[in-house]
Amino acid sequence: MIYLDHSATTPVKPEALQAAWPWLTSEFGNPSSTHELGNRAALALEEARKTAGKFFNVRASEIIFTSGGTESDNLAIIGLALANPRGKHIVSARSEHEAVLSAIDFLQRVHGFEITWLALDEFGQVSNFEAALRPDTTLVSLMVANNEIGTSHDIKTLAEAAHRVGALFHTDAVQAVGWFDLDLKKIGVDALSISGHKFGAPKGSGLLVLRSGAHAEPLLHGGGQESGLRSGTENVAWAVAIATSLESLAPADSEAKRVSKLRDEFIEQVLSRISNAKLTGHPIKRSPNIASFTLEGVSGEAVLLELERRGVIVSSGSACAAGSDEPSHVLLSIGLQPEVAQTAVRFSFSHETTAKELIEAASSLVESVKVFI
Ligand code: PLP
Repeated sequence: MIYLDHSATTPVKPEALQAAWPWLTSEFGNPSSTHELGNRAALALEEARKTAGKFFNVRASEIIFTSGGTESDNLAIIGLALANPRGKHIVSARSEHEAVLSAIDFLQRVHGFEITWLALDEFGQVSNFEAALRPDTTLVSLMVANNEIGTSHDIKTLAEAAHRVGALFHTDAVQAVGWFDLDLKKIGVDALSISGHKFGAPKGSGLLVLRSGAHAEPLLHGGGQESGLRSGTENVAWAVAIATSLESLAPADSEAKRVSKLRDEFIEQVLSRISNAKLTGHPIKRSPNIASFTLEGVSGEAVLLELERRGVIVSSGSACAAGSDEPSHVLLSIGLQPEVAQTAVRFSFSHETTAKELIEAASSLVESVKVFI
């Protein structure tokens, strides 16, 4: 099997599972308990927090463990917007993940926030950003890299512009871990969401980096864990696993260079051999690990099944959108017609993906498309 659906999810790394194992078995204490078993769990949690903090170059206290990308996005967006009622205006883009769109929709429906949706060009890049910012803008939310088309944003520049008008900046970095430099001091955002299962930690692990001084209202109320921002007994094992996974990542810059080269060769193979294939997303400003295409006239879902029959596992869009017949909201947001959006196929790679796998995958795609034309 050639698995090229890493943007949907990744296998759990053995070292992450090994590190988590004791905290699921012999070391099962509740970190809030005052006996030894509890103390050891609390220490493990704090060690995991420090490790994660180091990865993002923030203090341990700026790491909030969550259940994944969806929760982190909700906590950042709803939490920051409600705790900072300097205005009720939010700026974002329709190409964001459903977790961001739905959290913003909730603020609009229930709390009367006004939303400016940024215009997107055909590559998925935002435009007229500064013109959208207002004195009452509370929050901007824009992702580092798109999960379907791979287009990336220059978050540092956008965050600087938002800060100039006093707005807070959240970024969904779920697809960026291992590929982009996520040093918070360099990119300068107030909140950053990640999800463990996109880089070798289990599903249901995640964290939010929340800059100290950025106030957020919690979504979950209770025992006051995670500095009062995420009540509920902490999932020590998953916190240890996500920290271990972060720690074991190869440096983003060298991996980005290496895999971008494989990606570009793959794109070139596909575009030169399949006449109806078109790359989606920005040709250069894109995530190293995503190559997605529309295959005009051919159903993406049908090609996906044909590829699977040949042992190549990919996605026809985001995993969340897959399974529904609706065309991808991301592809519609960059101006594709619904019937073209239905032809999309996404290939997404990991640090382990090889040139040989991609040569085979390109040939399988050529053969699969031939079945339908
Ligand atoms: N944000 C982006 C960009 C994603 O790609 C995903 C998952 O695919 C999420 C958020 C949601 O993360 P999770 O599955 O951990 O809830």
